Amino acid sequence: MRRKLFVGNWKMHGSLVANGSLLRDLKAGAREAMEGGDLVVCVPACYLAQCSEILIQSGIALGAQDVSSHAVGPYTGEVSARMLQDFGCKYVIVGHSERREYHGETDEEIAHKAQRAMAAGLTPIVCVGETLAQREAGRTREVINMQMSAFLSVLEPEETNDLIVAYEPIWAIGTGKTATAEMAQEVHAMLREQLVEKSAEAGELVRILYGGSMRPQNAHEILQMPDIDGGLIGGASLKAADFIAIAKAVL
Ligand code: PEP
Repeated sequence: MRRKLFVGNWKMHGSLVANGSLLRDLKAGAREAMEGGDLVVCVPACYLAQCSEILIQSGIALGAQDVSSHAVGPYTGEVSARMLQDFGCKYVIVGHSERREYHGETDEEIAHKAQRAMAAGLTPIVCVGETLAQREAGRTREVINMQMSAFLSVLEPEETNDLIVAYEPIWAIGTGKTATAEMAQEVHAMLREQLVEKSAEAGELVRILYGGSMRPQNAHEILQMPDIDGGLIGGASLKAADFIAIAKAVL
């Protein structure tokens, strides 16, 4: 049985003051929430030091929202996996649809980012998802399959065990629209088949998260599905009570 995982993606939100108060509230409810699963917060890079210090011994893990595909060198503005690891990061999101859309990230680059992350001992949370136009054209399976295959093709089977995958239908991110539990389960089952083809062990071990307007109100139904192992949560992770309520929705 895979333990559930709840990852908060703060995106470009926060301030020194707001982060302090959000994390204090989160820590206060974390013990109960962690009965539902593991908790991670992926914060803006400039706040890693602050958040890492506040989270010491809280049981809540720290993550970043992006990582460079390069190890080190003249890459202005980029942050390497080793740097993230230096600040106590355990996880990093790669290939979020907002990075794909606004920064032109390709499946190949995303795979290299994930490899860099793993080489530094971080767990990459690799995002895949279709647009509304692709879903309406009946292309969801094809698109997800392509994104996942491009990514899996550069990994060795044993590397695949150390991944987290997040299925995030782009039309559901930040829109208040959610995939139904059945729609999400269908895609998660397909992703798991792809993992099994690469490595039976990965098929068993890898946690596949759902992301897209997950809220306390819809979390229970989504999290009942056999191949949904938790959530990647944007907006609702900015309110400690909502993030905690989502994790507790499995209890
Ligand atoms: C996300 O950004 O990964 C996300 C799922 O956002 P939201 O929960 O706000 O839809």
